[in-house]
Amino acid sequence: MKNGRCPKCDSSQVFSGAEVFPKSGPFACNAIPISLTAMAALDNYVCLDCGLVESYISTAEDLETIRRKWPQASAAAETATPAESTNPSD
Ligand SMILES: [Zn+2]
Repeated sequence: MKNGRCPKCDSSQVFSGAEVFPKSGPFACNAIPISLTAMAALDNYVCLDCGLVESYISTAEDLETIRRKWPQASAAAETATPAESTNPSD
């Protein structure tokens, strides 16, 4: 989507919020928590035809923090999660 093409509807009406200020800080919500003390600012890309929004971490430093702090997602982990689906209603 960063290349200006919507992956959903194939529109070229994609606009970048990468330069919108402020991206992070006390008044911004355009960021996600990546650790106890750190927020990562996001670059948003919006398709004007279908409304799709994609968000990207904007700095390499934040991506590195995520690599160090977050567990890597995997298909195996998803299926291994024991779902509490047993219904003790009777
Ligand atoms: Zn679209």
